[in-house]
Amino acid sequence: MSHSLLWFHLLAKPTGAVCNLDCKYCFFLSKEALYPGSKFRMSDELLENYIRQLFESHGPGEVNVAWQGGEPTLMGIEFFRKSVELAVKHRKPGQTIIHTMQTNGTLINDEWAEFFRENDFLIGLSVDGPKEIHDLYRTNKGGSGSFDQVIRGWEYLVKHKVEFNILCTLHSANADHPLEIYRFFRDVLLARHIQFIPIIERATQESLYIANEGWSEKPGGDRPLYVQAGDLVTERSVKAEQYGKFLTAIFWEWIRRDVGKVFVQMFDVTLASHFDIHSLCIHAPVCGSALAMEHNGDMYSCDHFVEPDYLLGNISKSSMLELVASEAQKKFGEDKLETLPKYCIECDVRYVCNGGCPKDRFISAPGGESGLNYLCEGYKHFFGSTQHAVKIMAELIRNGRYADEIMGIYDKEEELMKSRFRNAERNDHCPCGSGMKKKHCHPVSYPEVADFLAGVSPADIVRRNPA
Ligand code: SF4
Ligand code: SF4
Repeated sequence: MSHSLLWFHLLAKPTGAVCNLDCKYCFFLSKEALYPGSKFRMSDELLENYIRQLFESHGPGEVNVAWQGGEPTLMGIEFFRKSVELAVKHRKPGQTIIHTMQTNGTLINDEWAEFFRENDFLIGLSVDGPKEIHDLYRTNKGGSGSFDQVIRGWEYLVKHKVEFNILCTLHSANADHPLEIYRFFRDVLLARHIQFIPIIERATQESLYIANEGWSEKPGGDRPLYVQAGDLVTERSVKAEQYGKFLTAIFWEWIRRDVGKVFVQMFDVTLASHFDIHSLCIHAPVCGSALAMEHNGDMYSCDHFVEPDYLLGNISKSSMLELVASEAQKKFGEDKLETLPKYCIECDVRYVCNGGCPKDRFISAPGGESGLNYLCEGYKHFFGSTQHAVKIMAELIRNGRYADEIMGIYDKEEELMKSRFRNAERNDHCPCGSGMKKKHCHPVSYPEVADFLAGVSPADIVRRNPA
């Protein structure tokens, strides 16, 4: 995290919501309706104003020039060459420039990839899984899947050794395939950093039908503007239970073989929470430090709230820092905590979950209290079932050791467990601790080692497995 006058992260959208793809769940496409008649291109004048203010607003440390869309590469490479030059021009002593771009990858070629590598861009590439999964919703304007074009872009990134993250949205059509997707990213795309982003498209009774139709432009130009309202969701939205099971399935594969080699954002966030570090706004107690800027300089409270009620102002008329530090933005961030339901306050995994993102808090808790997160069931499942393993990793770190030692610990404990099962007679008490005879409990199989260890404190497990 950077040191700054006021730490914040700003996602800039140089083409607004305009994109060359037409992904079915992408409600950002509908945001074009906010700027009727616009050409959706950030001007050179605004680009310089933006970069200048971005560096002025930060203190020493890292300053992230972060581009997103729509599809930012539609601006053409010269725009970004200018942005790189301007960052060097306006950087203050002690500031380090980080360039990032989130892209669908379809326009990346040798020239783009060379440019990214030369300027150390970190690229977030959107892929939803192997071809048959990716192509379900990530379609082009003609309705065909975009996988082949995305993979062509990925090949250029690899060829030029560009650093990349995979950003995978989770929806009803891919969330039942956790290991297939994870292994594809790890083994085929050679991804070392992966983020999973749940798709939750809210709708009201009135808007549900049209929302289910998708957000691309309809013949006649009639489409609704997506806003965070309603307590229904589209049929494409991921279900809470699916989300929890998806992350949990990947977690158990990761913890046996990939810790320290593959970085999955949610797993890092979960571990960091044991040190009271909340790097992802969604699971932080308060938010408000991740803002978005449209192609014309309009700043909004958050990328998920690019809608009229959350417009803070325009950086051509007000200073960026003033907008970031405004009362409205402060309130936006603090409301995340202020509106936390009692059900969350009393929850066992609140220390890591913190009630999730306010945009998703539209269901009722079991007692009828409103404002519970739509993903709650999934959060409880994931954070609850991985808690013991994460505590072992946290305990290792507290003891000056490495989190990845957990892989060796589980291997060793599993061997010991298996030998106990092998050595137990049929009529002995089952080694799993159930109190039943082995022949009635685990006559031939073993429990998962994590389940077997669940009753042992993480500190004891670490102690009995010295470095
Ligand atoms: S509203 Fe949600 S996504 Fe936006 S900053 Fe807050 S937690 Fe993050
Ligand atoms: S798991 Fe559910 S109840 Fe617990 S903090 Fe998260 S949203 Fe609230």
